[in-house]
Amino acid sequence: MGNKLTRRQILKGTGAAILGTAGVTATTNTAAAHTIGTASYTTDNLNVRSGVGTENSVVATAEKYTGMHTVDGPWNEDGYTWWEVETNGDSDNGRVRGYAVEQYQAHADFSFPATGYVSSDYGQRSSGFHGGVDIANDTGTYIYSSRAGTAYTRYEAGGCGNYIVIDHGGGYETLYCHLNDFAVSNGEYVGRHEHIGYMGSTGNSTGPHVHFEVNYNNEEQFVTGDQGEEVYAKSGMPKNYSGI
Ligand SMILES: [Zn+2]
Repeated sequence: MGNKLTRRQILKGTGAAILGTAGVTATTNTAAAHTIGTASYTTDNLNVRSGVGTENSVVATAEKYTGMHTVDGPWNEDGYTWWEVETNGDSDNGRVRGYAVEQYQAHADFSFPATGYVSSDYGQRSSGFHGGVDIANDTGTYIYSSRAGTAYTRYEAGGCGNYIVIDHGGGYETLYCHLNDFAVSNGEYVGRHEHIGYMGSTGNSTGPHVHFEVNYNNEEQFVTGDQGEEVYAKSGMPKNYSGI
């Protein structure tokens, strides 16, 4: 009766509020600290808030394995390191911007190459296997490198149209198809998140989109992104590919 909670008790009591689902055992990310521009993904259902600190309202709960990137920060509050983030959509929400703790965001090896919505996800189709993810937006939307590497510009009539392959080393390549135009020269080295081209509908395509693949030793790797989901350019792809 009338007991005041200590700060420790308050933190314990609101611990679940960091995460969107109580009782979930989180994997704490002990990787390198974030910086502005870090591409990451959630390792649990993570609350995104209207401000720094657990007293702020929840804008949205980003489901486990939602891609995001940091746009400002960090701040230390309530025993956590906070970043302003932009998260991709999930099954409940579209893209959101807000504040979330670093501890449940793992660094992503690859990033989404464009802002838009997933018009076709990875998987089997009646027409064959779709070995990448399609992100649709307007013609001219900027396409960014998913990771640093050497970019090669190519053309394939009836297939990828104008496309770019980036060789990341270690057997990894990313592929960006149907471009309207290039923003890099053939053989140019690009850093991560550099502007490499413009979205288009060249080759075998029914509307402006980028077909994006991650290949390892010339085999298409699984990439996330559910049909209709909104994604941000430079946000983390929620998958860690080992070896790079
Ligand atoms: Zn495609």
